[in-house]
Amino acid sequence: MIELQGVEKRYGNAPAVEDLTLTFPEGALCALLGPSGCGKTTTLRMINRLVEPSGGRVLLAGEDTRALRPEVLRRRIGYVIQHVGLFPHLTVAQNVATVPDLLGWDRQRTAARVDELLDLVGLDPGTYRDQRPAQLSGGQAQRVGVARALAADPPVLLMDEPFGALDPLAREWLQLAFRDIQRRLGTTVVMVTHDIDEALRLGDLVALMRGGRLVQFGSPDDLVLRP
Ligand code: ADP
Ligand code: ADP
Repeated sequence: MIELQGVEKRYGNAPAVEDLTLTFPEGALCALLGPSGCGKTTTLRMINRLVEPSGGRVLLAGEDTRALRPEVLRRRIGYVIQHVGLFPHLTVAQNVATVPDLLGWDRQRTAARVDELLDLVGLDPGTYRDQRPAQLSGGQAQRVGVARALAADPPVLLMDEPFGALDPLAREWLQLAFRDIQRRLGTTVVMVTHDIDEALRLGDLVALMRGGRLVQFGSPDDLVLRP
C-alpha cells in the first residue's frame, strides 16, 4: 500500500533519514518505533509530503506521490498529531467535517458521517456535536482528532504519537477503541511512537529505527528487543 524505496532526508548536510526501504501493507497497523531524534516523524511526513524527501521514492498504491496533487494526497491520507490542533473557533462537528467540507459533500451526508464517527470514538453526538474544543478534556479532544482524520474515510492514516499526551486510562481506552475502528474500516495506519509497549500491543508490524535507519521490521513476535 505504502512503499518507501531508498528514501532519505538531509537537513543541510545532516542526514535525518537514510536509505529507507520498506512496505507498509494494506490494512495493517504499523508502528514506527525508536528513540527521540531517530527520524520517525520525518519518515511519517515524507509519506504525505509535508516533508520533501531528499532522495528515493514514495509510492501510494503503486503511484509515485510526486505525481499526486496535494489535494489528492490530503484526501487519501489522514493525519493525526499529538496535540490535535482542533480549530478553536469551530464546533466539534465542524472540526470533524473539515475534509468533507473541503470535498464539497452535501450537508446531510456530512452530518450523518460526523455523528457516526463521534459514536465510533465514544462521544455521544447529541452531547458533543456543538461543543467547542475548549470545553473538552484532552482525551475527548484527541478522540475528535481521530474522528476528524477518519471523516472522509481515507485509505491511509498517519499518526504521530496520537495517544502520547493522554492520561493512562484515557490512553488505554482510545488505543483499544482505535484499533477496533481501524480493523473495522480496514485503514492502513502508520503510527509513530517511542513507547515500546504501545508499538507491541497495537502494531501488526513494527519498524524499529535508530539513527535515521531501519534496524528491524517485522511482527511484534519476530522482533528482537533488548532492555
Ligand atoms: P523523531 O521523530 O524520531 O523524534 P525526527 O524525525 O523529528 O525524529 O528528527 C530526526 C532528525 O532530524 C533529528 O536529528 C532532528 O533534529 C532533525 N530534524 C527534524 N526536522 C528538522 C528540520 N526541520 N530542520 C533540521 N533538522 C531537523
Ligand atoms: P516531535 O514532538 O513530533 O518530535 P519536534 O519537537 O521534534 O516534533 O519538532 C517540531 C518541529 O520542529 C517540526 O516541524 C520539526 O520538523 C522541526 N524540527 C525538529 N528538529 C529540528 C531541528 N533540529 N532544526 C529545525 N527544526 C527542527
